[in-house]
Amino acid sequence: MSALKTELQTTNLTAAKKNFLVLPAILLFDIDGVIRDVAGSYRRALQVTVEHFSGWRPTAAVIDALKAEGNWNNDWDASLELLRRHGTYVPSRRALIEVFSGFYFGGDPEGNPTHWQGFIGDEPLLVDRVFFEELSRQHIRWGFVSGAEPPSARYVLQQRLGLSDPPLIAMGDAPDKPDPSGLIRLAEQLAAGEVPRWIAYIGDTVADVQTVLNARERRPEFPWISIAVAPPHITDVVTYNRQLQQLGADHTLGATRDLLPMIQDGFTP
Ligand SMILES: [Mg+2]
Repeated sequence: MSALKTELQTTNLTAAKKNFLVLPAILLFDIDGVIRDVAGSYRRALQVTVEHFSGWRPTAAVIDALKAEGNWNNDWDASLELLRRHGTYVPSRRALIEVFSGFYFGGDPEGNPTHWQGFIGDEPLLVDRVFFEELSRQHIRWGFVSGAEPPSARYVLQQRLGLSDPPLIAMGDAPDKPDPSGLIRLAEQLAAGEVPRWIAYIGDTVADVQTVLNARERRPEFPWISIAVAPPHITDVVTYNRQLQQLGADHTLGATRDLLPMIQDGFTP
């Protein structure tokens, strides 16, 4: 009897261990501020676009304060909102996008990236291709959920990082964050019918944390985790991360590359 019991326990333990190894882990990334530094590109385009229409250039702190509200993930809408609050002339969304694109892409967004002359050429990468190879080696399934325009997102992932056909939800593929539809859709696609042992989303803003909280509410059967990382332009990382933690981030990092040691140490959310 006791031998049988021991055997059953051993079998169960082995099954549990096997399950743990077999069940997928899913890691989804925001792009701007997480994969690339956009202080000199998207954020700069936002600043000079607002300046173009109003003569007033919002500081980095003004943009950070707006983003901290959680509803201004889209930089076109953020530009329009700053113009509205500044009380000056507010152009049509279409006119604003045209000026913004001129600064950011400096060429046809649907055209050949080698012809782009805009700020997009000045985006330091925060991780490299080896980083993603290492995640794959650790059997982690990864993908991207970003509010960036599709040509911009594809450019950084394929051209700059050299990833071939990465799983990606970009602007227009799903409702804007903090709506969790895009995050849930890509997580389900990568889970491929299995229940993952964890699904983490790493982002750098309030909207990213809120997106995970919303996903948890809509799909409570999935083990959602929010990881927050301070974008490179933030000088007081401790305060920034503490705020995101208070809003519901489960883990905070000083830099995206710190994910690897965390996972190698046996990341158990
Ligand atoms: Mg971001």
